[in-house]
Amino acid sequence: MPNNLFRNIPSVNELLESPPLRSLVDKVSHNVVVAEVRTFLDPMRADIQTATKDIHVPSAGELAERIAGWIVTEQQPRLRPVINATGIILHTGLGRAPLAQAAIDEMAVVAGGYATVEVDPDSGQRSQRVRTVEKLLTELTGAEAATVVNNNAGATMLALAALAQGREVVVSRGQLIEIGGSYRLPEVMETSGAKLREVGTTNKTRIGDFDSACHEQTGALLRVHTSNYQVVGFTESPSLEELVALGRRRGVPVIDDIGSGALIDFAKYGLAGEPVASDSIAAGADVVLFSGDKLLGGPQCGIAVGRREVIEKLLAHPLMRALRVDKVTLAALAATLRLWRDPLTAELHVPLLTLVATSVENLKNRAERLVPQLAACSVVGTAEVVEGSTYLGGGAVPGQLLPTWCVALTPAKESVDRLAELLRRQTPSVFGRVHQNRLLLDLRSVLPSQDALLAETTSRCQWEHA
Ligand SMILES: *Cc1c(COP(=O)(O)O)cnc(C)c1O
Repeated sequence: MPNNLFRNIPSVNELLESPPLRSLVDKVSHNVVVAEVRTFLDPMRADIQTATKDIHVPSAGELAERIAGWIVTEQQPRLRPVINATGIILHTGLGRAPLAQAAIDEMAVVAGGYATVEVDPDSGQRSQRVRTVEKLLTELTGAEAATVVNNNAGATMLALAALAQGREVVVSRGQLIEIGGSYRLPEVMETSGAKLREVGTTNKTRIGDFDSACHEQTGALLRVHTSNYQVVGFTESPSLEELVALGRRRGVPVIDDIGSGALIDFAKYGLAGEPVASDSIAAGADVVLFSGDKLLGGPQCGIAVGRREVIEKLLAHPLMRALRVDKVTLAALAATLRLWRDPLTAELHVPLLTLVATSVENLKNRAERLVPQLAACSVVGTAEVVEGSTYLGGGAVPGQLLPTWCVALTPAKESVDRLAELLRRQTPSVFGRVHQNRLLLDLRSVLPSQDALLAETTSRCQWEHA
């Protein structure tokens, strides 16, 4: 065993004294450099231990250069994990739904190798990429057929293009939604090649308005769930059943964009009014569109379920290819859908639903447990438990508040905004929300397994490094 080689490996201190690393200590931080030097040296020691013949150990100077290069690369921007203490469970800026462990496991299994993405293992023949999840989607929604694309914006674009390119799509003026900047229904419609035919008014649209707009150039009737706003007061819009009856009579398909993709009724969790995919299918919609990473709690994707003949049209359109999902998404979606086959299992294992379903007592207990730990942090002035309310977010269920508990922090010095910034700059990054000059850490959106990490991360904060 060439253990004498160990003596040739420079010590951590020796390396820290070398010019390339000494200058990095000033630029980055002492702790970061020491940690990175160790992560570099440890595998080298392991290599030497298992080596059967002599291996080359670089000189201290050479090694220092290499480690410095590595640290500079490591400091490059990348996605940083976040503890989401904003209270917003579906935060698009923070990546929407955290995935179930079963989904993560299945993603890992297929990610590093090959998978039966477009082949049927029994026959060895080519098959549709979405066959894996289609069976689960039809089982859970009652639809005849299903397909999956990159996101719901993509699913909408695809459905409009495949069913109504060059023809008119009738939609209520009360449902011309904008979802986060670049998603504006009139623009999506234009890009798809379908022509928008607006009917009714902002607050009132009747089935008669749809009927009078129909003629031989009509390609589809579209209903859009007003996910992120509500029209209240003197309002009216036709029911899906009425639209379906009209569509049948006129011979045009009805597209129902339900947005959030609830597979069960969320009313029992205090979130009423979110359309359920199976209800839309039961009401007769020809195709129902929704996101995979909103209330379904899965990976980013857009799902279309509906009549076989309609789904076949979507599959045959060239946009299908441009918007297709990869094997990793399919694996995660299949695993998540399998959990939804039993709502109780979903409640336990789909993080989104677990967060929604967490009792206020649980949140209060956890907040109380965190208070002394957070109060002991040097950057924190005071910490106390406060009751509050939050939104689900992600453009779902507007106007409905979820009850919650938070830890409210005041800064030990400087301002509350600076405290918020300090927490955001950590790894993991901690996002809270500033309210009335306090930083609220809202436990509604914090995974219970991250409570300890939240306290630990806060305790690592120091003013001078901001
Ligand atoms: C969120 C949403 C979309 C866009 O879905 P993405 O998955 O973000 O592309 C489209 N329509 C409705 C009604 C929505 O709520």
